[in-house]
Amino acid sequence: MNEEVKNEILRLKEKGLTNICVEGELEQIAELTVEINRLKKLKNAVILAHVYQRPEVILGISDLVGDSFKLSSDCSGINADIIIFCGVNFMAQTAKILNPNKRVFVPSPDAGCSLSDSIKKEDVIALRKKYPDAPVVTYINTEAEVKAYSDVIVTSSNAEKILSNLYKKNKRIIFIPDKFMGRNLARSLNKRIGDEMILWDGSCIVHEKFDVAVIKEYRKKYPNMMVMAHSECPSEIIENVDFMGSTSDMLAQIKNTSAESYMLVTECGLGELATTMFPDKKFIAMCRLCPYMKMTSLENVLETLKNLPSNNEVILSKDLIERSRKSIDMMFELAR
Ligand code: SF4
Repeated sequence: MNEEVKNEILRLKEKGLTNICVEGELEQIAELTVEINRLKKLKNAVILAHVYQRPEVILGISDLVGDSFKLSSDCSGINADIIIFCGVNFMAQTAKILNPNKRVFVPSPDAGCSLSDSIKKEDVIALRKKYPDAPVVTYINTEAEVKAYSDVIVTSSNAEKILSNLYKKNKRIIFIPDKFMGRNLARSLNKRIGDEMILWDGSCIVHEKFDVAVIKEYRKKYPNMMVMAHSECPSEIIENVDFMGSTSDMLAQIKNTSAESYMLVTECGLGELATTMFPDKKFIAMCRLCPYMKMTSLENVLETLKNLPSNNEVILSKDLIERSRKSIDMMFELAR
């Protein structure tokens, strides 16, 4: 083993990777991260990693970690020619919309998302025709074309505030595509589904499958545990947790509280990240893996950086970027 790899193993250990991966894997991981980090500098690239990515991607090679919107907006101030977005396709598209002058690549071009794949621009056009008086409010987990036909984009952190602002002037709102998030919002805002709030039948395959009975069972064993769930979870889950929010909201909540233990009802990557960020806090496992998020590996990041394959580059027309950007800008205005 050469010196560089030995030092890299030490760096990865300091970052906490040994807490979540087997000791024997480290040498193999270190060889790849050394090469990726070398190429990154050489090509003036920045690597963004969603919190649901594999720990070796987050801890070994990423420059920024966060939720999709935070990543895309934070990197606009970075002086880099290339963005490698470790996440799913709609996220890389959002990065391109917010950074049109940079080349954006996604290491796994087949990484879709059950939510974003549930709706196409034609569906939005049909909804608009059916409810011409209702603005279209769209969760950020959608493709650029769907964003382009929307009035305003929301994230899980600002959706309630934006909807509440919009209801001051509108009796009815179309909220797409996440039906569970829509139901949770309708409940908090006291709006009637099907009348004041029109929903689409989309859902996240990770968050729709959690089981309330399991949460209740764990509560008996850990009575002082704080249970947090992502707002993409169904209402029966949300009714049985102590906190609902986005991935960033959940990390902030862990930082600012001192519960005996925490359960994160979301994709497993967040729990893995929390374990390394808060080594003194205790986490109770309750998570599911997103098959799309886990398509990104160190191997395909290396391949993408080395060859910048055209198949992995996000290409959006100027018109599509401008139209979808409009609905994102409206989010900033309404969330103020
Ligand atoms: S966790 Fe759910 S919303 Fe996120 S990428 Fe996977 S399927 Fe899509």
